[in-house]
Amino acid sequence: MRKKLIAGNWKMYKTAAEAVAFAEEFSAVVNAAKPEPDIAICAPFTDLAALIPAFGGSAVSVGAQNVHFEKEGAFTGEISPGMLAEAGVDYCIVGHSERRQYFAETDEGVNLKAKALFEVGIIPIVCVGEVLAEREAGREKDVVGKQLRDGLAGIAGQDFEKLVIAYEPVWAIGTGRTATSGQAEEMCAYIRSVVKEMAGQDVADRVRIQYGGSVNAENAAEILGQPDIDGALVGGASLSPDKFITICKA
Ligand code: PEP
Repeated sequence: MRKKLIAGNWKMYKTAAEAVAFAEEFSAVVNAAKPEPDIAICAPFTDLAALIPAFGGSAVSVGAQNVHFEKEGAFTGEISPGMLAEAGVDYCIVGHSERRQYFAETDEGVNLKAKALFEVGIIPIVCVGEVLAEREAGREKDVVGKQLRDGLAGIAGQDFEKLVIAYEPVWAIGTGRTATSGQAEEMCAYIRSVVKEMAGQDVADRVRIQYGGSVNAENAAEILGQPDIDGALVGGASLSPDKFITICKA
């Protein structure tokens, strides 16, 4: 039985002071509501040192949104897996479409980053998804299949089953245009079939596959009710404690 993971992606929002204010408010509602899924907030690097202790007494994990794959080196502006591990991070998003689009993130980079994160015990949340033109051309499975085969190549079975894969159709991110629950389920089931091909039935049964793209308090329950959808990656609606807790309880 897979436990759902609801993860917030704060993108480039919230200073450390704003992050701590969120944590204080959200911890109180989480502790009162005791929602069933695992919950994580993926925050900007500068929030992590303050946010992790601020969530100390609650069941909320903290994640990062990017990492460099090298242990250390002359890579100005980058953060290493070991730095994130020492900070106490549990998850790290890799291959988000905004990083693919604006920062030239490739499937090869995703692969190196995912492997480097496993080496320090951080769970990668690997994002895949097609752009609108690819969906309109009926190519969504080809595109996502390639992202998975290249991005997850060579990851060992005992790591693979701990992975989180987020299916995020790019046309649904931050647009208010959500995939239908049928479209999301079809793609998450397809992703599970590719995982089975790559790593076997047991891993495919255990790996968690999230949907992301304009998930909100109104549509969360239907999306999360689909058999192959094991949680959500939530952008805009994770910035408000009220909206995010509603999704966590859906
Ligand atoms: C995201 O940032 O991964 C995301 C899905 O954003 P939003 O929920 O705002 O569409």
